[in-house]
Amino acid sequence: MTIPTQSPATQQNHDLAAQLRDSRLKPGLKHFIGGQWVAGQAGRTFDAHSPVDNSLLVQVAEGDAGDINRAAQAAHDAFQTWREVGGAERRKILHRIADLIEKRSQEIAVLESLDTGQAIRFMKSAAARGAENFRFYADRAPAAGDGQSLPTTGFLNYSLRQPIGPVGVITPWNTPFMLSTWKIAPALAAGCTVVHKPAEWSPVSATLLAEIMDEAGLPKGVHNLVHGFGETAGKSLTEHPLIKAVAFVGETTTGSHIMRQGADTLKRVHFELGGKNPVVVFDDADLDKALDAVVFMIYSLNGERCTSSSRVLIQQGIYDEFTKRIAARAANIRVGDPLDPDTEVGPLVHPRHFQKVMSYFDKAREEGATIAEGGVRVGDTGNFVRPTLFTGARNDMAIAQEEIFGPVLTAIPFQDEAEALRLANDVAYGLAGYLWTNDLTRAHRFAHGLEAGMIWVNSENVRHLPTPFGGVKNSGIGRDGGDYSFEFYMETKNIAISLGTHKTARLGAGAPPAVTAKEVEG
Ligand code: NAD
Repeated sequence: MTIPTQSPATQQNHDLAAQLRDSRLKPGLKHFIGGQWVAGQAGRTFDAHSPVDNSLLVQVAEGDAGDINRAAQAAHDAFQTWREVGGAERRKILHRIADLIEKRSQEIAVLESLDTGQAIRFMKSAAARGAENFRFYADRAPAAGDGQSLPTTGFLNYSLRQPIGPVGVITPWNTPFMLSTWKIAPALAAGCTVVHKPAEWSPVSATLLAEIMDEAGLPKGVHNLVHGFGETAGKSLTEHPLIKAVAFVGETTTGSHIMRQGADTLKRVHFELGGKNPVVVFDDADLDKALDAVVFMIYSLNGERCTSSSRVLIQQGIYDEFTKRIAARAANIRVGDPLDPDTEVGPLVHPRHFQKVMSYFDKAREEGATIAEGGVRVGDTGNFVRPTLFTGARNDMAIAQEEIFGPVLTAIPFQDEAEALRLANDVAYGLAGYLWTNDLTRAHRFAHGLEAGMIWVNSENVRHLPTPFGGVKNSGIGRDGGDYSFEFYMETKNIAISLGTHKTARLGAGAPPAVTAKEVEG
């Protein structure tokens, strides 16, 4: 499609993009291992493309088992000193990283848009959120190791937390910069060192993040970056014996692979996986607000969003009117140049993903649903699709069960609360759920019954960083956020100190020993 560059702000973004392509991308992307920018040991590279027109964006070092080994060794060596760096010092460095992210947020946003196709208006906020993630964990670094005091008769027990060791972080392509900070900031605050393997479809912002962390004074080897494919570099990372845990964000099936790959080395895993999240709209809800939230949660971020509300369950009496209103809003959404600040939906990340999303338009027709809006591509180049609404769908259709991960919404009617809960829970996933009702008791009751890790009542996804983030069922294992992230990146140790008053059973001393119940545990 021809992309007009009308507004001065759009022009400015394009000028910056041209400059960055020349200065930052033309030389290609390297790995960052042990504080050095290095090519892959085997000298191979792969191409990353721009989703706007699928032209070559950048050549990237292709990591393999050898590169992962170098990075894991560097992370292992650096761990011996980083774990001893005090929380106050870690706090300072993490704040400096946040400062630099803020300073370079325009550059991050423009490159992220170019690389992923996400609209710049969202990528600016995502960069800001990346800085917030670092600040949040910077302030928690000094207390990360704190434990509990658990005294008992004759003993003082106290627990403390220590960093688990070098960890692997594997991220997807949908909002790569923000998601990487989500994982890396708590790992560093905890005292872990990191090997990061970003998604092969969106390698650019991980490179910026590595650069920023280096510039902020993070000691060499504490953060390492290896580009490459999941089946090679990613797999090696999950199998490496020096890597103690793997924090993974991506597809459910990849999570299963990683669990298998990490079994021999008993990896601790943390999985944030797919979703098919319901938004349930009852007829007593504030329907204007519900409409805004439903539209936002499926069409923002190109619908390439794990917490997108991709199934809307609507009470029968308001179904026709409400779906008409969604369709009208979807039809009005501005699809186009991701660098235009007015754009609401940009191109999908990759032709393969574009084909996957498009295939659901055919599937919807075959299954007997109605395409009430969209269901077509936009233009004839690039990966642009029209925001789409399927109506007349049933919950057992593929369009209601499978994660499409695009700007595609499936609407299903329900009669009453019991049916809504049954439909909402009748999927393999359980990441997020959204509920719209003004009936207070129903809101609590429904939220308790909904099988999801996170539920928002009368709201879209508005995240508070101390709260737990994660899913149930096929949507994940473990929680991020606040102290929950430290539970993953740290080992809890208990230390029991005798006050010298307890008696030890005297085996071999002649008399039958009196053994207490407390002495025979474990
Ligand atoms: P993906 O699983 O294909 O890839 C994610 C990462 O895993 C990439 O870096 C990839 O190279 C790597 N990988 C692939 N195979 C691997 C293997 N065998 N071993 C080790 N690493 C491997 O996912 P994607 O297509 O990049 O991202 C989209 C998915 O991510 C969607 O399912 C989405 O729901 C999910 N996601 C979940 C959350 C969440 O918080 N739950 C957030 C964002 C995205």
